[in-house]
Amino acid sequence: MPEPKYKRLLLKLSGEALNGGDKAQVIDFNILDNYAKEIKRITEVGVQVAIVIGGGNIFRGASVEKSGIDRVQGDHMGMLATVINGMAIQSSLEKHGMNTRLMSAIKMEQVCEPLIRRRAIRHLEKGRVVIFGAGTGNPYFTTDTTAGLRAIESESEVVLKGTRVDGVYTADPEKDPTATKYSQLTFDEALSKNLKIMDLTAFTLCKENDLPIIVFDMNKPGNLYELVMGGEVGTLISNQ
Ligand code: UDP
Repeated sequence: MPEPKYKRLLLKLSGEALNGGDKAQVIDFNILDNYAKEIKRITEVGVQVAIVIGGGNIFRGASVEKSGIDRVQGDHMGMLATVINGMAIQSSLEKHGMNTRLMSAIKMEQVCEPLIRRRAIRHLEKGRVVIFGAGTGNPYFTTDTTAGLRAIESESEVVLKGTRVDGVYTADPEKDPTATKYSQLTFDEALSKNLKIMDLTAFTLCKENDLPIIVFDMNKPGNLYELVMGGEVGTLISNQ
């Protein structure tokens, strides 16, 4: 069996990616199906996979403040949205024959397991894909911060941030044709160049805990596998 570069990793998927840019639908199940196939390939080579999924396709707390909804209320709604996405991805993974557990930071025992760190690690050791739902369980945070936090707690070696661009660029490649891609960056370089990779809370958490982040294109078939096998995919952000 080919040897993967990482034994345990945390994959961060944004909620917004799930509707494929089509605001008329909440979740495009074809996209989820493709994600499931990509994830299956890496579990087959023995990689332990944890997933944090966002909720932006359904609800973002901060964006509704102006409509008079209290921020904390909105953030709770956003966290519940991540559980809906977590359930959707869980179903897609199971359809492809993977064993999974959805663990929520907000208790909802009829729907999924409560988050218990030791239990999450045990699931990962047994080869189950663990989906961490409901963000950090606290308002004023994001699912990027959740990804950093759960990666550290679950002793994952890296956060893979799946996006629709293939890494971090000098400028927005969708707007500036002269933009070039970084293959590697330090956290300090990314901060001094003001490159928006994750929000500052998430970024600082990863930097202080020496947890590398790789930004890569999740929509390109085979990319996740290539990355996990040590290929030069995306942009690596680390302390050295
Ligand atoms: N959220 C929160 N605390 C957390 C994680 C998420 O309050 O620890 C809420 C917040 O309102 C956020 C929403 O859940 O806007 C959805 O998460 P996020 O915006 O990170 O999703 P993504 O941008 O990845 O789709």
